[in-house]
Amino acid sequence: MRHEERAVGAVVGSAVGDALGAPFEFGPEGVFSARFPSPGGGGEMCGGGGWDPGEATDDTQMAVLVAESLLRHGGLDLPDVFARFQRWAAADPKDIGLQTEDVLTNGLPWDRAAAEHFRVNRRAAGNGSLMRATPSAVYFARAGQTATTDAARRIAALTHGDRAAWEGTAVFHELLRRALAGADPLDALPDVVALVSPEHRRRYATVLAADWHPGLATEFNGAVWPCLGSAVWALRSTADFEGALRAAIDLGGDTDTVAAVTGGLAGAYYGPDAIPARWIEPLHLPLPGFGGRVLRPADLTGLAHRLATAVSVRLG
Ligand SMILES: [Mg+2]
Repeated sequence: MRHEERAVGAVVGSAVGDALGAPFEFGPEGVFSARFPSPGGGGEMCGGGGWDPGEATDDTQMAVLVAESLLRHGGLDLPDVFARFQRWAAADPKDIGLQTEDVLTNGLPWDRAAAEHFRVNRRAAGNGSLMRATPSAVYFARAGQTATTDAARRIAALTHGDRAAWEGTAVFHELLRRALAGADPLDALPDVVALVSPEHRRRYATVLAADWHPGLATEFNGAVWPCLGSAVWALRSTADFEGALRAAIDLGGDTDTVAAVTGGLAGAYYGPDAIPARWIEPLHLPLPGFGGRVLRPADLTGLAHRLATAVSVRLG
């Protein structure tokens, strides 16, 4: 499978996970498989909790904002990404993370807003920078490991002052980069964990270990560590795209984001043809603040192709 096909799998797979998990957000464990007992049964893109069937959420909205900024500017333009986030946040999206909302509306400039939030609150290791990471991981993949992890940390820092969130986002970027090149991201884990900055490495080594499972999590899966660990566990403990997504959503909690992260990795690894067509067909993404646009699967596929084949990758 070509890099470009895997990129489509990642971008569409992440959006599918987001939309599939959204109706189950903040629910208990096991709700998804109780309602849909058999893989392949159909009807899983069910909507609910304010979401239409197939409607993706803030995870994919912010991911698309990053993607469109990278493509528009031929690389990383951090003030532009932040301005797009602010324009979206001001347009009353159906969902937005509490921390992200505060950072985008506190009136401070792009290079101070998140740091100031962290200085005051001291808690900023949510999964909100991880959830939107697939497009930038695709875009920077061909520029290599250093460019990939640097970009990951800098984009994360726009909304998250806690370096733990930067490191988790960097791990995801590098795992996806290796998956796009045809590697098994699970095999890459020891190498990738070694890239985590030393003060954060132990916690990532724990949640990414082969014997870790979500039952061992010490925080809610809205935090960056168990969110990433759960996505990797979902990939490790299942045998196909559908199984990985079912496992992720069945964990309960922050189901849209855990499934979006899982879907990015699983989509890259298994490829776009492994994503059930019945999950892609109803997929759609309203984009508040940007002229009433609603992106469809063909738009996401087009974005993935452009991200994967961009000629210039300016590192900012
Ligand atoms: Mg969401």
